[in-house]
Amino acid sequence: MSGEAFNPFRMAQQQFDAIAEQLGLDEATRALLRTPDKEFHFNIPIRMDDGSYQVFRGFRIQHNDARGACKGGIRFHPQETVDTVRALAMWMTWKTAVVDIPLGGGKGGVICDPHNLSLREQEALCRGWVRKIIENVGPDRDVPAPDVMTSAQHMLWMLDEYEVLTGRHAPGFITGKPIGLGGSLGRTESTGYGVIYAVREALGELNMRIEESTASVQGFGNVAQYAIDLFHSYGGTVIAVSSWDQKAQSAFTFRKKGGVDLKQLRGMTNSYGEINRDKAADAGYEVLPGDDWIEQEVDVLIPAAMENQVNRDTVKGIKGCVRIVAEGANGPTTPAADAVIREKGIWLIPDFLANAGGVTCSYFEQVQSNMNYYWTRDEVIAKLDTKMTDAYFAVSQMAHRRNIPMRDAAYMIAIARVAEACKMRGWV
Ligand code: GLU
Repeated sequence: MSGEAFNPFRMAQQQFDAIAEQLGLDEATRALLRTPDKEFHFNIPIRMDDGSYQVFRGFRIQHNDARGACKGGIRFHPQETVDTVRALAMWMTWKTAVVDIPLGGGKGGVICDPHNLSLREQEALCRGWVRKIIENVGPDRDVPAPDVMTSAQHMLWMLDEYEVLTGRHAPGFITGKPIGLGGSLGRTESTGYGVIYAVREALGELNMRIEESTASVQGFGNVAQYAIDLFHSYGGTVIAVSSWDQKAQSAFTFRKKGGVDLKQLRGMTNSYGEINRDKAADAGYEVLPGDDWIEQEVDVLIPAAMENQVNRDTVKGIKGCVRIVAEGANGPTTPAADAVIREKGIWLIPDFLANAGGVTCSYFEQVQSNMNYYWTRDEVIAKLDTKMTDAYFAVSQMAHRRNIPMRDAAYMIAIARVAEACKMRGWV
């Protein structure tokens, strides 16, 4: 862990301030965009299975909706903080803007550990969350989605509560729903696939062949698993993944130098993608400390777990052979580590570009849900690839032209689009 006192919102604001300065944004626009537009903090009382009552703290933060309804996931996490949700909401605004979809930025969270909650208790939490925020969300106001430790099942419970309370069907209220119940084909894979579309183009720009490339991935949740899946389909090799171990309350890295077997690892996880250490060791994986994923001799590093993972301490472990860091997670790299990565000349594909495939597909899901007409998987995946590839090149061309890092270029494009929308609406 890092010794720096990490505050994601402060980090998001620092990143914004630096770009606002470069773009010469006026004071009012800066004031509008450097804090969320609206915040909702609320209690969710739940009757537990043993008959007792517990009160959980829930949030929804709406950062900006100048370009369209707020959009963003809901996290269930024991260490959730309001500043984390604020940062994540702000990053959603930049994410929807950089891939140019007509949506804004929001994020939600509940301080809880779903490992310790039964499915009935989780359902009650989902329904309680919707009851507390129903006046301020909806298909044309703010559209939630899954995120860390929330699933398609959680989305469906939330949708059901919304529909019961409003007395009508409204599948466009939420995305990441199960297939056949308003979900879009391709949505589950979309975030991980999007990361690899960006990696594919970055390798191409560096004149490297993906078939000969190696990667190490932090995390083994939804984003990581589908990133590995597509990287393998393209012929690349993932030699290490890390995953959280709930019992040990710590992460471990699982390495197989010839390449990890995705299917095999999937057979050894719980529903949160946490790999069983004993089973992995029996199957011949080296079990290493949690931070070792970053110290691997690979071409590509993919942090796809949580924020604050590539920090002042861990960044020192990055080997000289690493050419690309693709941020599958939101906010994995601290500004101090970012500076080191820049100095090393590593091509970093920033989070709100690299992982924008999820919200892009959520947008497709929302369009399909609102039409009540669903596309084929091929259609969804093709549209996703086009959107991600176009966004990647728009950012990389600016980065090359101005000789600036990808993160700065992505911020410039996104912030300029949102600022323009606010201006044209007459807000500032
Ligand atoms: N939670 C995902 C993200 O951080 C997806 C959000 C969405 O689909 O609205 O991008």
